[in-house]
Amino acid sequence: MRRSSAQTQPVVLDIAARGVEVCPECGALGLTPVSNGESVQFLCMRCRCCWRLQLGSVYRMNPARCPGCGQRSVCTTAPRPYGTPAVPGAAV
Ligand SMILES: [Zn+2]
Ligand SMILES: [Zn+2]
Repeated sequence: MRRSSAQTQPVVLDIAARGVEVCPECGALGLTPVSNGESVQFLCMRCRCCWRLQLGSVYRMNPARCPGCGQRSVCTTAPRPYGTPAVPGAAV
């Protein structure tokens, strides 16, 4: 892949290429990329949150609306239900 120096790549591409490196929920490193064939999510095996990238930001995937990451037994049983506020420092 060649990059034109005259054109700046959108930051989102760089982030998407790297993936989500750190879990925003519990700070775990090395999230597992999971895919349903169309979109890629990043699943944290520690707190079981499923993350997706959109416009360069990381959002938590609603397990009920997860398109099927292949790890539904993980992402639908996260200790913190989707939609509830995060409790800082609560993750062990
Ligand atoms: Zn996590
Ligand atoms: Zn999922």
